[in-house]
Amino acid sequence: MLTSLPRLPHLPIGTIFCIGRNFAEHAKELNNPIPGNPIVFTKPTTALIGNEETVEIPAGTSELHHEAEMVVAIGKGGRHIARKDALTHVAGYAIGIDVTDRALQSALKEKAHPWVLAKGLDTFAPLGEFVPASLVTDPTNVDIKLTVNGEIRQLGNTKDMLFPVDDLIARLSTFFTLRPGDLIYTGTPAGVGPMRNGDIVETTLGENLSQLRVNVRQLS
Ligand code: ZN
Repeated sequence: MLTSLPRLPHLPIGTIFCIGRNFAEHAKELNNPIPGNPIVFTKPTTALIGNEETVEIPAGTSELHHEAEMVVAIGKGGRHIARKDALTHVAGYAIGIDVTDRALQSALKEKAHPWVLAKGLDTFAPLGEFVPASLVTDPTNVDIKLTVNGEIRQLGNTKDMLFPVDDLIARLSTFFTLRPGDLIYTGTPAGVGPMRNGDIVETTLGENLSQLRVNVRQLS
């Protein structure tokens, strides 16, 4: 479990907001409609783990899915933040994984139940080291890459987001007060797939702006 944000130790750990279906190709691969508004959910902060830590597959489940995502850390809070000012509220960017129990999520979706049991367990929010926002010249053009045991599974770019970062911050802040240390997992590109016991999962934002390596362990 993380007790501070990697490379942003001055910020507390705030709320973890996550965006669903923010890439059209990913929505299609799961046969989901493309949303007219962002799909928003949250994860408990107890789900956070850092670099070189372990994703735990719960007993009775044989695989979890990886969703490589750019993660935004809010540096300056606010409510009703204008889209044109939104990026000035960002402290940094990192790569993260929205770990998902896909079989359970599908069952929950069918019953119209919340997703948290499929996405919010301990270790389900791996988070890499943050790069300061000042070093990311264009957050709408950053590569997202994920490999499992060295094999490329996800290769995307933030330019394909349906709702870019500034839009997400503006929209979220119409519903919630954003605070310093809040995190936004901004959605995954296509190529999601299984992680199983013993796998090594590596994921990168841009040209090594942020890296993350986790291993996967089955709990019995
Ligand atoms: Zn996701």
